Amino acid sequence: MSAKLPEDAAKPLEFLARHRLAATPQNYTLAYVALSDPGSPIGRAVAEIIAEGYRIKQEEADHILEAHGTTTFFGAYERKNGELSAHLRHQTIKIGELASSAADATGALARELSEEATTLSGGGADSTSIVARMIEHSLQAQARLTAAMDEVKTLREELEAARNDAQRDELTGLANRRAIDAHLAELAEKGEPRVIALCDIDHFKSVNDRYGHGVGDRVIKLVASTLEDACTAQFVGRWGGEEFIVIMPSSDIAAVIKRLNQARQTLADTKFKLRETDEPMGLISFSGGVALAVGGKQANVTALQQADKALYRAKDEGRNCILSA
Ligand code: GH3
Ligand code: MG
Ligand code: MG
Repeated sequence: MSAKLPEDAAKPLEFLARHRLAATPQNYTLAYVALSDPGSPIGRAVAEIIAEGYRIKQEEADHILEAHGTTTFFGAYERKNGELSAHLRHQTIKIGELASSAADATGALARELSEEATTLSGGGADSTSIVARMIEHSLQAQARLTAAMDEVKTLREELEAARNDAQRDELTGLANRRAIDAHLAELAEKGEPRVIALCDIDHFKSVNDRYGHGVGDRVIKLVASTLEDACTAQFVGRWGGEEFIVIMPSSDIAAVIKRLNQARQTLADTKFKLRETDEPMGLISFSGGVALAVGGKQANVTALQQADKALYRAKDEGRNCILSA
């Protein structure tokens, strides 16, 4: 039989089979974390045991999960995803349960086939009907396995979507502060130079005051998408209210300034009108400050301060311009 497992869901199962571990929710979680996040404490503990080709034993798996399971793996989700953690935990456990039921379906098929084979070798039965029954059993087991795996796939997609939601700003769809912090920390860890730009919409308070917060929100969305379009190769996030951050893993400050100027130009070239009354809204612009970070975490802090200072110089110099530190 050849029920096709979704690749991601199959990998932990293959891991469990290779190590002769039962496909329990706990073992599935262990395998899932070890494969998807090898740098995590669980991933490292597993890697240490299997480094020289050893199989991981059940007691060792239990020990790792006891030591790190709830406090580290789910704990990390909790820190990252706050209110979503309970949902994620539930989904992860459900994936494990489904994996076990899929494994049960395979086991049941093997037992059924061997019973049929015994009957066959005992003689007496009509071989055509035995083969027909075997095929029927095989198809049923395959359908059970496929259904279970379809559900695994759906759950994994939901899990992924929930994880993405936790990283996105609701209004603009850009990376939120949590995702920005994680991205900056990742770049600091790699020690690669990165250009950091902070942008702030000009005279935004007066947009809110004149047209109301609903229009203000639309302007934030508009600037967000304009920045995103101009900075396709860069990381763009919503830093706060009407402030945005652009990050590029390179030391090419000029390239980032060029992109930001393109975004400014696009806004300047568009005649914005109020949807409700067709009233022209005037120029929508933003100012920006750009700085380079080289080194670890402290370099991020310094560059953010420098970018902020450059941004305020840009405001002082009349706004609608980008300055570097
Ligand atoms: P400047 O050119 O100096 O930046 O002037 P500004 O008027 O833009 O001043 P500032 O940056 O201090 O104003 C930010 C305003 O943005 C204050 C706050 O009420 C508003 N704001 C923050 N978040 C949101 C939001 O999500 N929606 C709306 N509509 N307004 C927001
Ligand atoms: Mg501001
Ligand atoms: Mg502003």
